[in-house]
Amino acid sequence: MPTRTRSSTATRTPAKAAKAAKAAKGTRATKSTKAQAAKPAARAASGGGAKWVYLFNEGDASMRDLLGGKGANLAEMTRLELPVPPGLIVTTDACNAYLAAGGFPDTMWQQVLVALKKVERQAGKRFGDAKDPLLVSCRSGAKFSMPGMMDTVLNIGLNDKVAAGLTELTGDARFVNDAYRRLVQMFGTVVMNLPDEPFEEVLAAWRAKRGVANDADLDAADLREVTDEFKRIFKARTKSEFPDDPLEQMRLAIAAVFNSWNGKRAIDYRNAAGIAHDLGTAVNIQTMVFGNMGAGSGTGVVTTRNVTSGERDIEGDYLTNAQGEDVVAGIRETKRIAALSEEMPKIYREFAAICKRLEKHYREVQDVEFTIERGKLWMLQTRDAKRSAVAAVRLAVDLANEKLITRAEAVQRVKPEHVDYFLHPQFDPQDRAAAKARGDAIATGLNVSPGAASGILAFDADTAEQWGLKEKKAVIMVRPETKPDDVHGMLAARGILTSRGGRTSHAALVARQFGKPAVVGVLAMDVDVEKRQLTVGGRTLREGDPVSVDGTTGEVFAGELKTVVPDFKEPHLLTLLGWADTFRRLGVWANADYPRDAERARSYGAEGIGLTRTEHMFFETDRLPHVQRMILARDEAVRDQALATLLPFQRDDFAGLFRAMDGLPVTIRLIDPPLHEFLPAHDDLQKTVTELETRLRLRDDDGGKSKAAMEAELAAKREMLQAVEGMREQNPMLGLRGVRLGIHMPSLVRMQVRAIFEAACICAKEGVKVKPKIMIPLTAVSSELKIERDLLEDEAKKVLKEQRQRIPYQFGTMIEVPRAAVVAERIAEYAEFFSFGTNDLTQTTFGISRDDAETGFLTEYMGKGILLRNPFATLDQGGVGVLMEMAVRLGRTRRPDLNIGICGEHGGDPASIDFCHRIGLDYVSCSPFRVPVARLAAAHAALAQAAAEAKAAGTKKGARRR
Ligand code: PEP
Ligand code: MG
Repeated sequence: MPTRTRSSTATRTPAKAAKAAKAAKGTRATKSTKAQAAKPAARAASGGGAKWVYLFNEGDASMRDLLGGKGANLAEMTRLELPVPPGLIVTTDACNAYLAAGGFPDTMWQQVLVALKKVERQAGKRFGDAKDPLLVSCRSGAKFSMPGMMDTVLNIGLNDKVAAGLTELTGDARFVNDAYRRLVQMFGTVVMNLPDEPFEEVLAAWRAKRGVANDADLDAADLREVTDEFKRIFKARTKSEFPDDPLEQMRLAIAAVFNSWNGKRAIDYRNAAGIAHDLGTAVNIQTMVFGNMGAGSGTGVVTTRNVTSGERDIEGDYLTNAQGEDVVAGIRETKRIAALSEEMPKIYREFAAICKRLEKHYREVQDVEFTIERGKLWMLQTRDAKRSAVAAVRLAVDLANEKLITRAEAVQRVKPEHVDYFLHPQFDPQDRAAAKARGDAIATGLNVSPGAASGILAFDADTAEQWGLKEKKAVIMVRPETKPDDVHGMLAARGILTSRGGRTSHAALVARQFGKPAVVGVLAMDVDVEKRQLTVGGRTLREGDPVSVDGTTGEVFAGELKTVVPDFKEPHLLTLLGWADTFRRLGVWANADYPRDAERARSYGAEGIGLTRTEHMFFETDRLPHVQRMILARDEAVRDQALATLLPFQRDDFAGLFRAMDGLPVTIRLIDPPLHEFLPAHDDLQKTVTELETRLRLRDDDGGKSKAAMEAELAAKREMLQAVEGMREQNPMLGLRGVRLGIHMPSLVRMQVRAIFEAACICAKEGVKVKPKIMIPLTAVSSELKIERDLLEDEAKKVLKEQRQRIPYQFGTMIEVPRAAVVAERIAEYAEFFSFGTNDLTQTTFGISRDDAETGFLTEYMGKGILLRNPFATLDQGGVGVLMEMAVRLGRTRRPDLNIGICGEHGGDPASIDFCHRIGLDYVSCSPFRVPVARLAAAHAALAQAAAEAKAAGTKKGARRR
């Protein structure tokens, strides 16, 4: 989930806000002279009161905190002298003051009226003037875009008189009546919270009456009657007349937008997107321009490049003779923007040039809205475009190659989850082909958010949430189109499917932002929400049936498809990660137990193995009996025999790892877990013994087994039970494990060390460059390490002598218990490297069992805010982190060149990686699949630190430029 820089209005100072806005744009120089001057004025205008209202030509892009993203960008476009209809912005501060006090703050409304006069002068029209009226839109605009989450009212300023005057002026009664009915409908639903259905039913009835499919085909007289019917609905439901006074319309609309900040869907969205709840929204009051004034008019929503694939072309949709909402709602079938170059070539050229200019100015791909009113182009919005993971990577690389941004900025613009996407499943090509051959490829729609997902169909958001979130089922949510109210279902679903909507539809925007595979606009598909079924090409799928969607290709399949991890060779991704590598200081290693994992990790860029859990190899079926024999042995001879059998297995394992990591360090951890983990469970054994005893007593021969055989089995099981009982511990995780086990069973350590060095010698002879690092787990006392080191050196010497070879190696320990961190200086006497085992270190620091953590009270703690994050997922910097810092400092006091890494799960978590960078670790080690993410996160950490240091040093230079 994308988290954003939060700024609390309580602590935000004008200077801080201006700086933050600047920082948010990286190293770009914002010409924000007005911002600096205007900010203090927000609190104390010249008359001593606060300034709550800004004209578009009073602000700029740096004022996002105060003017919201939309308002700041409208101001910036005005500053750039682009064709922007004039308007005013009521600030986020005004919203917060309104929400706190339950009413407009002092002087705000007067300021709106004064600004409105100026807008009238700029537009050359007057609000409420029946002859040549100014109509305005009223839109929300928070600091961070929240698509469709808050409210908008268009065509404010219309009443019967104004409508009549406008009809006379334009000679277009149809257009005026359409605008009027939209105002009443939006005012009713948005401002007065009326349901949409009664209004839609009226429109549907009129369409049926006229036998037309679109509202656009209703004529002027029809729409006049529709408007009257809407007003009747308004009155019946609100017990008040539709307000005729344009200023009253505006006043109520502003209040409605303010209130929408705390609407349920806005709160849900902010929770999901990690946006702070105290930012408030600005309100943009803007002169209306009309795309629905006939064939020479139109409206569109585009991105300046393709935000699904990252390709360079302008991408998006438009409609002629329509208002903006028609494009986004996906109710009418839109045209691709390329068609505009044929339909209105001059306008298209002007528009394309503006797109280029905006991209260059913002140094970022933009998402823009435009309207053409009778052959004149107007820009209504620009903002940084949301994008898919694939596009995020490609756009960053392309913009850097085009020198619009630096490589450092390109790296910073790509988020860990974008890289993670490339490691996510896609449909298995063979399975896909088989599904096609079976005729299960049932439809194709727009591929708006890449990735592949299978799941059962859910026809509404609540069902998707119930099944997906609560019952943990894989769900694909299907709708005719999605609305902001559906977001909770979309978040719970694995994938999204809609029959309507375009690339800029709500479903597409939200899916892309949250990385959900999505296919929209499957026009051939009929989604019947009532009957809970979809029909396409003669096939009917019902709720609960499995379906698969491929957001990369736009294909929809009946049934479930197998998925595979994508090929990690996308050239832009490789380039970007290559750049990331030039910025990071932390090494990125992998936790790998088998050669195939090591190979994968290396192909993803791992620079070493930071943890091989050798015990995992013991669990394999051909080894487990020998492991058990070794554990149960009563005398050394039997144990040695079992160990001798295990030795070649381990030698092969290690040789495989050395070969896979030729030239890179391989950290092998000696056996760690309590031995009982290799033996059958106590309760199962007890049951078997009792059963065998009973059978023998009853002479039940268990399918022909001889009595002697049963007695032999019973004896073996009893012996095992006795051994298990002998080893039983109340808290095995705090018992005979880790280094304690090695000390208790030195012959096991000797076997593992021998296997490591024999493998190293074999590989070295083959020409492989081996770099073994031998690691002892769970050390708490330095003398434990001394004993292990002596043992190891003795065995290593023997092997190397036998093999007549010299293999340099390192000996080190994990830091997994608080005591080890506290006495790190003494531990470093014997250890050449430390690796933080933060799974155990978190467990032992908190005293919370790592095995039960997520299933127990920890979830409750997070729900109650006692813990903000799961400390087993993201390092607890204030507790565990303090111990780590201490260990680093003390360890390096004793041994300045002490090599230090981390190999707990936190090694793949971006926030934890940032911390590891700051406390001076040498490397992080994580699962092979997290290696690319860790490479990027390590670069982010280095760039963030460089920026912070540059800031602290008072220099203007931000992150290092390349
Ligand atoms: C750890 O404790 O963080 C660790 C890496 O070891 P394991 O998870 O194997 O206990
Ligand atoms: Mg551990």
